[in-house]
Parts: sequence; structure tokens; C-alpha cells
Amino acid sequence: MPRPHPNAPAKPPAGMRAMQLERPGEALRAVHLAVPRPGPGQVLLRVEACGVCRTDLHLIDGELPDPVLPMIPGHEIVGRVVELGEGVGDAAGMAPGQRIGVPWLGWTCGHCGFCASQRENLCDAARFTGYQIQGGYAEYTVADARYCFPIDEALDAAEAAPLLCAGLIGYRALEMAGAARRIGLYGFGAAAHIITQVAVWQGREVYAFTRPGDSASQAFARRLGACWTGAGEERPPHPLDAALIFAPAGELVPAALRAVAKGGTVVCAGIHMSTIPAFPYDILWGERRIVSVANLTRRDGDEFLALAPRVPVRTEVVRFALEDANEALERLRRGALQGAAVLLP
Ligand SMILES: [Zn+2]
Ligand SMILES: [Zn+2]
Repeated sequence: MPRPHPNAPAKPPAGMRAMQLERPGEALRAVHLAVPRPGPGQVLLRVEACGVCRTDLHLIDGELPDPVLPMIPGHEIVGRVVELGEGVGDAAGMAPGQRIGVPWLGWTCGHCGFCASQRENLCDAARFTGYQIQGGYAEYTVADARYCFPIDEALDAAEAAPLLCAGLIGYRALEMAGAARRIGLYGFGAAAHIITQVAVWQGREVYAFTRPGDSASQAFARRLGACWTGAGEERPPHPLDAALIFAPAGELVPAALRAVAKGGTVVCAGIHMSTIPAFPYDILWGERRIVSVANLTRRDGDEFLALAPRVPVRTEVVRFALEDANEALERLRRGALQGAAVLLP
């Protein structure tokens, strides 16, 4: 029996507040639900903060196939362990009171070809938090202990939450760019504001592309270390070595291909993108590559969460009460946020 942590929370109450998606295309509803019980291998946690990700908008808008409904969205969860399910304990390094983070990747089969080759992010049976597993827009949630990450006690919970998806997916996208020195970031939201800090710390040059006329985001990007800012269709002063596209706009793919040098890589980092328009072969010619980033692996999480405090990454967050989740989502949709929206239950 693991010893309780000094911050061990009291026994959970019977009921909790949550924001729930009942039908795609509708706003989330504020509901009261029973506090879930941790099954074998799971932990129950009290949510301290949960980030709002663009993927949540895709889920709510019906752009992701076959969601489990009703669903509590949210996959950037920072919380404290309240209760351990059967079989979780010292082996998993988990104890009540401990602070952990829950990411998008919530479960994989563990034995398919992808899982067996350290590509668990591609597992066909994978299940995702806030999409197929109830997520963090709630006071409590349960998670598979094997897919959680320890989160530093020194961090503010709200500021740590965006690291769990915006940070992790941004990091995986940046890794796909290899040793590229001049990096273009298309869409300057939660992921780009984190990855700018990492890229600048690594000695790279960051070129930030925003919506046309979005001078607030451009100023934000320059403040974080971007050496140039412009609109998505603009050409940067130098050809780029790689471009990371965080905005879900297919027309950015040919724009980014035109901006990268021969041998350059265009990384599409979102889970959903509008149709990519036809483009002439000569903008792909010259060994330019287009790749996508799908989900994350636990190794990405371990690497990035160890790297972030060394930079150190400082996330800029806009805090919302849990019940204001719909407003947070609308502001994200309009691009009216600098940094990342976070819900505090
Ligand atoms: Zn996400
Ligand atoms: Zn698998």
C-alpha cells in the first residue's frame, strides 16, 4: 500500500461538475455527474487545470469520426491522484496526492506492429483522451496510469497544462524538421508559442506566419523570439529549411512549399485540415517533403517534459472557469487568444 503523499486530497465527493458534448455541432452542456471510479490500471485524479486544444473544436464541430457520446472533452489535464485502481502502485510510481499530466494518447494495444516498433502513436486500436476516453473538462477524471506523466510541483497547474498537447505535438513536429535552421511556423497559437521558445533556445531562426493583419499575434511572436513575422501567403526574406503548419487550413500547404528551400520539409501538425488545393509539381520538386504528425508517443512526452524546464518554456495562458468552456472555445475559433486557453474547475 503506497504511503499517502503530503498533498493527498480528501476522499472524492459523490458528484462532480463537468462540461459535456452531447451532439456534435452543439455547445457543451454544464452537467452534474457521478465521480468516476478507477478501473484496474487506472487512477482517479482531481483536475487542477485542463487546456483547451483546437482538436476539441474539431470534435465539437463533428470533424472527427465516431466520437464516444456523450463525451467530456479535454486532453491537456494536470491533476492530483486521488485514488489508485487495482494493480497501480509502486511499480507505476504513483501515489495519492502526486501531480500528474494526462495527454491525448490514452491507451494503445501494446502488441501490434506499430506498438512493437515504438510507433504506438499509429496503433489502429489506440484510444484518445477527451474523444474516446472521458476527458478533463470536469472536476475529476480517470486515466490509464501507464499513459500519464509526472508533472513538476514547482509549475503552476494552468501553465503546465498546454505542455501536454500543444507542447508535445509541437515538439514532435519540430523533431520532424530535423536539423533545419530556419523554421516557419504557420498559425501562431498555443503550439507555436511554446515551440518558438524551444526552437530559439536550440539556436534556430523562427519565422512566424499569422492570419493577415493579425498584428497582435505577430507582436506576440516577436516578443517570444521570432526574427520575422508575416501573413500566411507571404514569402519570408530567406527560403526556409522547414515549415510547421499548426493552422487547419489546407491552402497553407502549397504556401509553405513555396517558402521552403530544396530539401525542405513541410510538417502538417494538426489532426484535421481543410482540403489541400492542387498545386504544381515544381513546388514539391527538389526533394521537398510533406509529412503529417499523428498524436504522440510516451517517449515524446518524457523527452519534451524533461526539455521544457531547461529552456525554460514559459506558457502564456488565458484562464477560464470550467463553466466558461464554450466561451474559451469560441475565442480559440476566432483566433482571439494570445497563448493557450485553460479551464480551471
Ligand atoms: Zn490537443
Ligand atoms: Zn497497437
